[in-house]
Amino acid sequence: MSLIVQKFGGTSVASAKLIFNVANIITRAYQEGNDVVVVVSAQGDMTDELIGKANEINTNASKREMDVLMASGEQISVALLAMAIEKLGFPVTSLLGWQAGVMTSSTYGSAMITKIDPGRIKKELDKKNIVIVAGFQGLSQYYDVTTLGRGGSDTSAVGIAVALSADLCQIYTDVEGVYTADPRFIKNARKLKAISYDEMLELATLGAQVLNNRSVEIAKKHNVELEVLSSFVDVPGTIVREVANMEKMLISGVAKDNNVAKISITGIPDAQGWAFRIFSKLSARDINVDTILQSAVHGDKRDIFFTVNEDRLSDAVEALNKYCESIEGAKLTYDKNVAKISIVGAGMQTHAGVAAKMFEALFTAHIDIQMIATSEIKVSVIVSQENADEAVRTVHNAFFSTID
Ligand code: ADP
Ligand code: ASP
Ligand code: MG
Repeated sequence: MSLIVQKFGGTSVASAKLIFNVANIITRAYQEGNDVVVVVSAQGDMTDELIGKANEINTNASKREMDVLMASGEQISVALLAMAIEKLGFPVTSLLGWQAGVMTSSTYGSAMITKIDPGRIKKELDKKNIVIVAGFQGLSQYYDVTTLGRGGSDTSAVGIAVALSADLCQIYTDVEGVYTADPRFIKNARKLKAISYDEMLELATLGAQVLNNRSVEIAKKHNVELEVLSSFVDVPGTIVREVANMEKMLISGVAKDNNVAKISITGIPDAQGWAFRIFSKLSARDINVDTILQSAVHGDKRDIFFTVNEDRLSDAVEALNKYCESIEGAKLTYDKNVAKISIVGAGMQTHAGVAAKMFEALFTAHIDIQMIATSEIKVSVIVSQENADEAVRTVHNAFFSTID
């Protein structure tokens, strides 16, 4: 007998029929003699619809009230899924985040899990109940409902698996596993049998939405093996674990992130401390800066270009505008029409020429590279958004066309 945590995403529970499909997967695992804890997301596009409803009332609503609203989507799906399992004749209890002991920071909209007290879940398991927990939500120390950021149910599931020392954490979704690129857009994308935590973390952070990056971080930290698999097709998925590159691939995948904006500040006097002055203003607002490029000094001036998440752009511009206005000749401009295309692979640590191969593919497709950033296991380029899909295709082909 094992303790299994299963997580089902929004598409997997989008209708009554699909809820019964999921209920069958859950009850099969239960009938095999396992303790089963399920984490579930809001149905279909419910979270987006709730945000739409809020915008009809107040586009400037407080993050606290947004969390109260957004968390309601998961409340609906846990109840409906529990009702389906009841109807199939199995013992079941649904729990909201706070009932399941999920405590978080009070950063509404992107709260971090601080602690999970699994006492109630364990009690329900002792009573032989299947336990259905609302993903994406928790409770702050002030007893306020919080949400963990978009895609946060993955994080709830992995957190609960850690708290329960589960034997297995299965992330059921609408594709059959983790692919070398988004299989909805890249038809020859290939399903990976396994991928390492580090590579998965990079892919998730760089735009592969299949797993939330914080869920991978927690899984790595606590060495929880994850399986990403389909709730629609009963085939083996992808295992995410410490060592994985059994397929000896140079790169594991290509990712695209459209949530990127480029900020340019030109004409900064080349005095010491300018970088500190600019970036400390952003860090004071908790804005992450990504790819950074600085020009050589021209005259006694230099220019700097960097990217931020597009949803933090207005914050970043507000933070920097005053500074730029106070410096004669400095000018701030921004461009939302950019995307980040990345390749990720542990193989590039030991093989030369990986970046060159990516750049050659983009050159051959006449795609202009605006900025480049690298780390040990990734290369990212910033391109214009019109070129983004073609860039993914061409880079993916360069690395994977020879593999069947
Ligand atoms: P869920 O609602 O189950 O959490 P998501 O929509 O958050 O599902 O994530 C699954 C989606 O991730 C897939 O439908 C797919 O389009 C997208 N995706 C992006 N990159 C990849 C990748 N490399 N492998 C698999 N899926 C990916
Ligand atoms: N329902 C939430 C969202 O749409 C959480 C999740 O799906 O993981 O972001
Ligand atoms: Mg998701």
